[in-house]
Amino acid sequence: MIVLDQVYKRYSHPDQNGWFDAVHPTSLTIDQGEVFGLIGFSGAGKSTLLRLINLLERPDGGKVIVDGQNLTSLSTAQLRKARQNIGMIFQQFNLLSNLTVADNVAFPLKIAGWSTADINKRVKECLAIVDLEDRINHYPAQLSGGQKQRVGIARALAPSPHVILADEPTSALDPFTTRSVLDCLKEINKQFGVTIVMVTHEMQVIRNICNRAALMEQGKIVEIAEIKDHQILA
Ligand code: ADP
Ligand code: ADP
Repeated sequence: MIVLDQVYKRYSHPDQNGWFDAVHPTSLTIDQGEVFGLIGFSGAGKSTLLRLINLLERPDGGKVIVDGQNLTSLSTAQLRKARQNIGMIFQQFNLLSNLTVADNVAFPLKIAGWSTADINKRVKECLAIVDLEDRINHYPAQLSGGQKQRVGIARALAPSPHVILADEPTSALDPFTTRSVLDCLKEINKQFGVTIVMVTHEMQVIRNICNRAALMEQGKIVEIAEIKDHQILA
């Protein structure tokens, strides 16, 4: 479970008296197993709010509690450990271009100190989950956008996180590969109960995959809605 308690982020601004709240004090609870969407115009604060959940952005106030642990109170070493429970995927995939698919997926496990045998086993498992076992020795440049994003998903999934944060995961993709990525995320949510928090500006992505979505405007959540009828993407 993710609990945001009056969390906010303030940036300096040349005009508005020096400061403005990219995210105003926000409280929000996301249950384990939810697929939660954050939608809104560019600049609304979606990405900042998402990055507050794993403390990629340090909040200027408030608490971020994931699985009962208050991340804002942790030491650097404790936070590094807690972040293994929170995977992240990005619009531009953020794969390392000089590493193979296998080594990209292995990356977080190496940092976490896994043995080579365990890493090799887990990499194969994760590539099977995203249906890319036959690309294990390819380099990112040899893959389509959708395949790159599925490698990103396998990398996020490798340490068996409870949460995956997705920042515009399909915005760089065409409709067909968008569907393959959304199907993959749905499957991971269903099979492993991984909570997914996803930023998007595309309403059809929200309708396709989310259980709930928050609309953000100017750093505030202005509405939260349950999504009932899941659409099939064309
Ligand atoms: P969204 O994801 O909805 O497009 P962001 O969270 O990226 O919005 O940005 C929210 C606001 O915060 C925007 O006005 C953006 O320009 C500003 N912002 C984001 N990051 C920084 C930063 N590092 N320094 C200053 N302003 C920032
Ligand atoms: P085990 O006790 O053997 O880990 P689990 O039922 O926990 O069994 O998991 C079964 C398989 O699913 C294992 O290969 C495990 O690594 C994988 N798995 C478990 N949780 C997750 C998760 N959150 N994300 C991805 N894979 C997971």
